[in-house]
Amino acid sequence: MRILLVEDEPKIAYSIVSALTGANYRVDAVRDGETAWFRGDTEDYDLVILDLGLPKMDGLAVLKRWRAAGKMMPVLILTARGTWPERVEGIDAGADDYLAKPFQIEEVLARVRALIRRSVGQGSAILTAGPIALDTRQMRVLFDGAPVSVSPLEYRLIGYLLHHKGRVVSSSELIEHLYGDDDARDANALEAVVTRLRRKLGPDFIETRRGFGYLVSDEPA
Ligand code: CA
Repeated sequence: MRILLVEDEPKIAYSIVSALTGANYRVDAVRDGETAWFRGDTEDYDLVILDLGLPKMDGLAVLKRWRAAGKMMPVLILTARGTWPERVEGIDAGADDYLAKPFQIEEVLARVRALIRRSVGQGSAILTAGPIALDTRQMRVLFDGAPVSVSPLEYRLIGYLLHHKGRVVSSSELIEHLYGDDDARDANALEAVVTRLRRKLGPDFIETRRGFGYLVSDEPA
């Protein structure tokens, strides 16, 4: 899952980036509204965390422009405590949730998990397909109830496919969502990860639709 963080206060940005990276999200962090708008307009994010008070263009204006252009990714806004009119305006402008500063980092993570789940129609923090389960709170993968050791990239791949269970996901979409700005991106490397996962989680867990992409479903072919 790939997240855009828009926050101009370096200390807050650092703490959020650390927490999200620790929870195995790929994070692109930007510090002004113009850059944020451009990134959100041209890249495909699973979630945006958006501060409202920003240099160059304020967060509300950024959000309104995205929504007017049809960008529907979930947006969690960050506001100063006690500024409820700002929060109301943010939600009216198309924010999905808000968090008042100062916040506990655990709450940021919980809201991020919930918003990403909801945006793809998943209700539970534990995602399943057949014998495979992914516990998004404990960041564990289980096969028939037994924990399976996976790499961070393998975890992100399982997580993305399970969040989009029942839909064929192209390799270009996977590459977009599993890798950050600084990662090398490579479709052959992706195929190698899929092969490794089939070894760990059974040959039927990820189905390849030649020319279309990858599919995880409850009833593998
Ligand atoms: Ca700010």
